Amino acid sequence: MKTPPSPLVLPESSLCSTHYQVTEPPGIPGTSEILGKKRFEDWLFSAGYTEDGEKLASCSLTVEHWTCDNGHDFYFRKYCGREYCPICGAKDSYYHNRRVMRAADHFIWAVTWGNLTFTMPKEVSERRLEKTQLRKLQDLAWQVTQRILKVEGAGVTVHLLGREGQGLHAHFEVLFHRIGCFNKGIISKPKLKAIKKVWALLLNKEFSLDLKTTDVRYSFAATGPRKWHKLSYIHRPICTEEAMLRLNDEDKKYILSLKGYHRTRWFGVLSNSQVKEFLKKHWAPATLRETPLIEKRICPMCKTKLRYQDRMFIDQIPKTQVVRYNNDIWMDRAVDAFLRQEEQGET
Ligand SMILES: [Zn+2]
Ligand SMILES: [Zn+2]
Repeated sequence: MKTPPSPLVLPESSLCSTHYQVTEPPGIPGTSEILGKKRFEDWLFSAGYTEDGEKLASCSLTVEHWTCDNGHDFYFRKYCGREYCPICGAKDSYYHNRRVMRAADHFIWAVTWGNLTFTMPKEVSERRLEKTQLRKLQDLAWQVTQRILKVEGAGVTVHLLGREGQGLHAHFEVLFHRIGCFNKGIISKPKLKAIKKVWALLLNKEFSLDLKTTDVRYSFAATGPRKWHKLSYIHRPICTEEAMLRLNDEDKKYILSLKGYHRTRWFGVLSNSQVKEFLKKHWAPATLRETPLIEKRICPMCKTKLRYQDRMFIDQIPKTQVVRYNNDIWMDRAVDAFLRQEEQGET
């Protein structure tokens, strides 16, 4: 199976790495030095979050061993996937790139993208809002956008923190496509005014406030680099190790309590039930990158599903029997030989 050529807007560091290209994992950023050698891992252990602490401590150091029905061996590096992990929460980490690519799948076909940032007064944005409240606010941000700009679908991403060291600051990024704009992504002043007003009314109702207007910002992207920047920015790691260390203990616990919350939700034609049909209508590829079989845990040689065997440290992998597929996957020599042969056949 061939990987399709990557669209122009994607940076080279995105997920589209071809195999045999081995890069070293990102090192732990200089956070600990800035903050006097403190690590969030230590805080987790001291506050009783032992499981999370252990996951962080072992992140990227172990592999899962899987085999196919014919006994070919594969080893997959294990990441903890936590945003506050110095490895998983780094910019351009696997998780950051995956979020960006997933979002890009929804938008890449459209010429112009609009982006509304819905903020709330400080007294609300710094509250520890429950999951149900965040969900409701995401719904409302979508409804305002849909009602006033007549958009068909959007992704609404919640950001929980403000700029460095400012603590909790919940706000919502609404990203949508603007059909028929042809590089003119501008919206009229009266429309933006109406958006601010309706958002204020909804917040008043929700939190018993008395706002006349609110701060809602609008920007758009119509060129490749700007679009890429927008996606990368909206989906960047926010509750990183450094950000977590700067929060007070109650806020740290609050962020940890939101575990499992989907920070981006999709609405209208971009909702999970409609997006495939919608993309088809616009001749857009369903995904930007065809996932190689090996990453779907299927043996590329035998085409059978892999089965989990056991887990071990990286230095326990029998290195003479495997070849590195990429930074995170080791595969059987026989499968590597087969793939090389297949590649030669294609060229
Ligand atoms: Zn991790
Ligand atoms: Zn096999």
